[in-house]
Amino acid sequence: MALQRPKGTQDHLPEGSPKLSLDVRASAFAQVQDTARRVLERSGAEFIATPLFEEAELVRRGVGGSTDIVRKEMFTVYYFGDHGGYVLRPEGTASIVRAYLQNGLRQLPSPLKLWTHGPMFRAENVQKGRLRQFHQVDYEVLGSTDPLVDAEAIWLMWEVVRELGLTGVRVKLGSIGDPSDREAYNAYLREVFTPHAGRLSDDSRDRLDRNPMRILDSKSAGDQALTLELGVRPMLDFLGEEARAHFGAVQGYLSDWRVPFDLDPSIVRGLDYYRRTAWELHHTQVGAKSALGGGGRYDGLSAQLGGPEVPAVGWAFGIERLLLALEAEGVALPAPEGPLLFLAAMDEERVGLAARLALGARSAARVEFAYRALKPGSAFKEADRRRARYAAVIGSEEAARGVLNVKTLATGEQRAVAAADLSTFLSEQA
Ligand code: AMP
Repeated sequence: MALQRPKGTQDHLPEGSPKLSLDVRASAFAQVQDTARRVLERSGAEFIATPLFEEAELVRRGVGGSTDIVRKEMFTVYYFGDHGGYVLRPEGTASIVRAYLQNGLRQLPSPLKLWTHGPMFRAENVQKGRLRQFHQVDYEVLGSTDPLVDAEAIWLMWEVVRELGLTGVRVKLGSIGDPSDREAYNAYLREVFTPHAGRLSDDSRDRLDRNPMRILDSKSAGDQALTLELGVRPMLDFLGEEARAHFGAVQGYLSDWRVPFDLDPSIVRGLDYYRRTAWELHHTQVGAKSALGGGGRYDGLSAQLGGPEVPAVGWAFGIERLLLALEAEGVALPAPEGPLLFLAAMDEERVGLAARLALGARSAARVEFAYRALKPGSAFKEADRRRARYAAVIGSEEAARGVLNVKTLATGEQRAVAAADLSTFLSEQA
C-alpha cells in the first residue's frame, strides 16, 4: 500500500474528489476562513502570523504546566545540540502575546485587535472532531479591561457562525472572577470534595490538590454526578464586587445586541492568568463535550511571559468543528465557480494560439485552455466538467478572422467576440 498520512491529520481536497465530505472540502475550509476574515476585519482586527513552532518554555508558561496539553499532548521537536526543544504550537494565544511584546506592538492604537488562522498541533487521542493537526481561527484584543471589549469579542464569534448560516449554536457564559475570588472558591471546593475524594476519577483527585476548579469541567460522568449530588455552589457565587459588575456589564451588552447566552457553572479555567469572562460556543448536534470554540479574558498572561501587565481577551474556533456543525445542519456551502471561459483548439497547430489568448485574458478573469486539440463535442464536454460558464473552440476559420464563437454552456447561446476584445468581454461578464 502507498504511504498514508499520519493519524489525526486530514487532507483538504479539491471539488469533485471521490467521497468528498464537507469537513475535508478545501473550498468549504476556505469559505470558513473567508467568513472569519470578513467579519473580523470589518471590526478593525489586523491579521498577524506567527511561527508554527515556538520555544517549549513559551508553551509551558503560556498554556500552563498543569494542563493536559502540556503534560501529555505536546509535539516536541528536538534537533542536535543542547537546545531545550521546540514545540509545534498547540494554540495561538501565547504566540500572539509573545509577538505583541517582542515587536513593540504596545505602541499601536489600543485596544489592539489581532486575528490569525492556521494549523495547531496536539498529540491527542484521535476521535471525530479531535485531531492531532487541526485549524483554528483566533481573535485576540490586547490593552483593555473594558467589558465592552469582552462583549464585542463574543458578538464577533456569534457573527461568524451566523454568517456561515449555523443556527443550532449556544453561547455558554461564565465568569471566573479575580484571583482572590478564585482562591476563595478553590478553598471552598477542596472543603466540599475532600471528604468524597475516593469517589472522584483519578484525574479529578489529582486536580483536588492542584486545580480543584477543573473538577467542574471533568468529562467523567461520575465526577459530574458527584458535583450535582453535593450541590456544589457555582463560581458566580464567589465573584467580588468588581468582577460582578464587569460580568453584569458583559451580559447587559449581549442582551442589548440579542446574542442569546446561557450562564453555565461548568465554564471554568484552571490557570492563574485567566480573569473574569470565560465562554464557549456549543452546537446541539456536534456533542456536548466538543465545543465549536472557546474564549476568555487573560489579563495575567503577559506578565506570566515576562512582559508588563497587559489586559487581554480572546477566542479561538476550531475550523474542523465548524465544518462538522455545518454538515450536521445540512448547510450547503456553494461550490466555487469554475473558469469563466474554457478555450480549446481544434487542431494541434492552434493549441499555442488558444493558450496565448487564454493567458492574455487572465488579467480579466479565470480562463483555462485545453493542452491538446479537441473536437467541438469533446471541448464542450470538457468545459462542462470544469464548470466553465463560456467555451470557445478555435479552428482555422476563427484563427483567420480573429473572431471567436463564444458559447454560453447553460443555454447553448452563441455570440461572436473579436479575439482582440476578449478581455473586455470577460470583464463585463465577471
Ligand atoms: P482550546 O484552545 O482548547 O480552547 O480550543 C479551542 C477550539 O479549538 C475548540 O473549541 C475546538 O473547536 C478546537 N479544537 C481544540 N482541540 C482540537 C482538536 N484536537 N481537534 C480539533 N479541534 C480542536
